[in-house]
Amino acid sequence: MVEELDPFKIAQKQLDDAAAIMSLDKQALAILREPKRVVTVNIPVRMSDGTTETFTGFRVMYNDARGPGKGGIRFHPEENVSTVKALAAWMTWKTALADIPFGGGKGGVICDTKKMDAFELENLSRSYVRALAEVVGPKKDVPAPDVYTTPQIMAWMMDEYNKLAGGSEPGFITGKPVEIGGSQGRFDSTAMGGMYILRNAAKMAKMDLKKARVAIQGFGNAGKFAFDIANTMLGANVVAISDSKGGVYSEKGLDYDKLSAAKEQTGTVQGYKGTEDVSNEDLLELDVDVLIPAAIENQITGKNADRINAKMVLELANGPVTPDADKILFEKGILDLPDFLVNSGGVIVSYFEWVQNNSGEYWTEDSVYKKLDGIVTKSFNDMVAMQKEYKEKGKKITPRQAAYIIAVDRVAKAMKLRGWY
Ligand code: NAD
Repeated sequence: MVEELDPFKIAQKQLDDAAAIMSLDKQALAILREPKRVVTVNIPVRMSDGTTETFTGFRVMYNDARGPGKGGIRFHPEENVSTVKALAAWMTWKTALADIPFGGGKGGVICDTKKMDAFELENLSRSYVRALAEVVGPKKDVPAPDVYTTPQIMAWMMDEYNKLAGGSEPGFITGKPVEIGGSQGRFDSTAMGGMYILRNAAKMAKMDLKKARVAIQGFGNAGKFAFDIANTMLGANVVAISDSKGGVYSEKGLDYDKLSAAKEQTGTVQGYKGTEDVSNEDLLELDVDVLIPAAIENQITGKNADRINAKMVLELANGPVTPDADKILFEKGILDLPDFLVNSGGVIVSYFEWVQNNSGEYWTEDSVYKKLDGIVTKSFNDMVAMQKEYKEKGKKITPRQAAYIIAVDRVAKAMKLRGWY
């Protein structure tokens, strides 16, 4: 049978699986299987050559029983509504597992940022906000960055929303530059949260991170800072890393500063002196202690899961491991830590940013990291406790199933209290 790779069908399958284990109320499941709202917009944008190009964009509100929607905006040539719906569903579980007062949303635009200049990107960013002004807002649905969107794009979007709102609304969007209301520590928060989880998981698995070899797929916001923090904070040795063009491997380990400088110059990590080139597929199969997929969905599937050699998989990207792969990794005894736990640092510090914007009181980087560590460590401990609870009842469940059970139960309870079912 051909494996299902549609991201939203995968998200529904994961939910169904958790719902069956926890015997979730059928009415609650029916609400949770579909997004509350899906908006598609076609956005005319003035280009640098004077012509107008029309782009298609989306904003999905998956569930807002626990608070306003929250979720990034992705600019990608292969963006599609199924991916946005899946990402919005995963955001719902992410905010619930972290127990922060948000629901789940997500947005995206089909575009190739590598072929656009700053003028065009600014026009697109502002037009996207104008097109969706009715459904987004600090008390409705709060956007943030995701793949190929940046703090600068958040700044343009906030400026556009403020013009429409007729006043200062910094809490409309998170991931802004610090100079205009961004939080200290937001830029590397996704990776930092992931590294706190890695520290906790290594302790549980009795893995000495100072002797650990790490491979990372992706050299963007998530992957690049994970590389740096794995080195500096955890003392681990990153032996391989990749970007969309491919990766590099070095038995001795890679140097973060040198490789970042080379990537700035050439646009890719590939070809760096003293390293071997590896493809993105081969990188996943390297004999390492920790594998960190930090790029895109569907990287470890039923096709390659039995060739994964890592002892631990830390899902820093959203949706990198499919349900078929999940089973295989579990049977092989590989500890696979789920995306909506591992990469929750981004939304947690986005929440801190929103709180700071709304209160007007700003926190130090140190205090942001301490609060972040407290929340992700609690989520990790809750997940491990849930696995233990089921084990004692005679059922072995995966870390993903345990995390789902906690998150779904919290959202279902909020819906029940509101009288939705
Ligand atoms: P980014 O745009 O900063 O970087 C993406 C990276 O992935 C780039 O290095 C790119 O070269 C690489 N890439 C793209 N296509 C690839 C492919 N086919 N194979 C291998 N590498 C490829 O994006 P990001 O913010 O780092 O996001 C990466 C993942 O992390 C996504 O799944 C995203 O949803 C997730 N995530 C990001 C955040 C955040 O705060 N940035 C938060 C939570 C989750």
